[in-house]
Amino acid sequence: MPPPAFPEHADPCGWNALLPPRTPRPPAQGDIAVKYAVVGAGYTGLAAARRLAELDPSASIAVLEATTVGEGASARNSGFASPGDLPASTDPAELRHTAALNRFGEEGFFWLQHLIQTHRIACDLERTGRIKAAATEAGARVVHTLHAAVRAAGLPHTLLDRDAMAERIGTAYYGCGLYTEEGHLLQPAALIRGLADTLPENVTLYELSPVQTLRRAGPWELRTPTARITAATVVLATNAAVKHFGYLRNRVVTIHTYAAITEAIPPARLGAMANWGLLPAHRLGTTVRRVGADRLMVRSLYAYERGIPAATVRTALRGCFHRRYPELSHVGLEYVWGGTTALTMNGAPFCGRLDDGLYAFAGCNGAGIVKGTVLGKRLAETITGQRDLADVAATYGSASWVAPEPFRTIGFHVVSALERRRAGLEM
Ligand SMILES: Cc1cc2nc3c(=O)[nH]c(=O)nc-3n(C[C@H](O)[C@H](O)[C@H](O)COP(=O)(O)OP(=O)(O)OC[C@H]3O[C@@H](n4cnc5c(N)ncnc54)[C@H](O)[C@@H]3O)c2cc1C
Repeated sequence: MPPPAFPEHADPCGWNALLPPRTPRPPAQGDIAVKYAVVGAGYTGLAAARRLAELDPSASIAVLEATTVGEGASARNSGFASPGDLPASTDPAELRHTAALNRFGEEGFFWLQHLIQTHRIACDLERTGRIKAAATEAGARVVHTLHAAVRAAGLPHTLLDRDAMAERIGTAYYGCGLYTEEGHLLQPAALIRGLADTLPENVTLYELSPVQTLRRAGPWELRTPTARITAATVVLATNAAVKHFGYLRNRVVTIHTYAAITEAIPPARLGAMANWGLLPAHRLGTTVRRVGADRLMVRSLYAYERGIPAATVRTALRGCFHRRYPELSHVGLEYVWGGTTALTMNGAPFCGRLDDGLYAFAGCNGAGIVKGTVLGKRLAETITGQRDLADVAATYGSASWVAPEPFRTIGFHVVSALERRRAGLEM
C-alpha cells in the first residue's frame, strides 16, 4: 500500500478540544499560482512560510494544510519546548555537540518566544524546569549519568529521592529524579493556532486542503481535491508524510504515539509544584505533565507505521496514569488521542533540497516544536539565498538509510520488544 497522503486520526486532539472553537480557513479552490507553496501548517511549515514572507515580502505564498490547524501533530504533542537540551554524558564530544545543537535550539525558541509576545498568543508558555525521572534501577542509572553530566556542565539542578519526588509531584512511583531549571511547557494547540492566525499578509493559509499529487509541469504543480496550485518553489513540511510524494522512503519511518488528559483532580493531589513536566529515563517510557491547576497529561505507547486501536490505547494510558497515581483510580481520562512523528535510523533529520525548487524537513525524531521552527526558518533562508544549510548538516547530521522491507518491519518489532522489556515500569 502506498504511504497515506497525510496522517488521519480517529480521535480529536485533546489540547484543541480544551480551547474555544476556531473557524478554519477555507480550502484551496480552482487554479492558484504562487511563488512559494508550503505543504503542511505545522511548526516547520508555518516557520518556513513566515520567514519566506519576511525575506520576500512581495512574493505570494500558499500554505496547504490537509486537516485543520489544531488537529495536526503540532497540536497533538506534549508541549515540551526548550532553547537547550541537556548533555547525556560528560564526554567532551557530547558536551560540544549539545552546545552546537543548543545554538539552533536558542534561535528557534527565542524566535517563537518573540512571536508569542508580539502577537499575544495565549499558549501558557512557562519556564517550569524539567524532571528526568526513574522508576527502575536501570532508569536510576540513566538519571545518575545525567546528573554527572549536568554537574560537569555547571547547570543548576536538584537530585530528588522518592520522598522529594512525591512531595513535588504527588506520587511516590519514582525512585529518583533530576530536576533541571531549563525547560518550558506550553499548550501546543494554542501555540500552533496562534502562529497560523498571525501569518504575514502575503501568506494565504488553506485548510482542509490535502495535497494528493505533486509533479513538475514547468513550475511545480500540486493538486488537492478542489484546486490546482502552481509554484516555482515548494516546501514539503509534512514530516513523515513526505513519503507519500515518493521522497525519503528509505530514510524516515512513521511512528504513532498517544496521549491523554485526565478529568479534573483536586490540585492538592498533584504535588507542591504548581506546574511541572516529567520525562522518562527510558526512551519508550511515559511522559507526564501537569495541565493547568487540576489535570495531568500522560503520553506513552509507540506503534510503527500503523495506529493502535482506540480501545487498546485508552486502557493502556489509563494504566500508565493509575500505576503512578493509584489513589486516583476513580479519576478517568477525559481526552485520548494519537499523533504521528517521524524517526530516522541515526536520529538526524533530513533538512534540505530534494530536487530543483523542492525542499523538505522530515524526521523530527519525536521533538519538533523548536527544531521544526528553526529548520523551517533555515529552509526559507536557504531558498531566498540568505545562507546555506552547511551548519545545519554539520550539527544535526543527515538522516541515514533505513533497511528496506521486510527487514525494516522485522527489525523494528524485534528492537521495540527488547526495549519494552528494558523500559519495564518506566512505561
Ligand atoms: C503525542 C506526541 C507527543 C509529542 N511531544 C512533543 C513535545 O513535547 N515536544 C516536541 O518538541 N515535540 C513533540 N512531539 C513531536 C512534534 O509534535 C513534532 O515534532 C512536530 O509536530 C513536527 O512539526 P512539523 O511541522 O515538522 O510536522 P507536523 O506537526 O506533523 O505538521 C505537518 C502538517 O502537514 C500536514 N500534512 C501532511 N501531509 C499533507 C498533505 N499531503 N497535504 C497537506 N498537508 C499535509 C499535516 O496534517 C500536519 O498538520 C510529539 C509528537 C506526538 C505525536
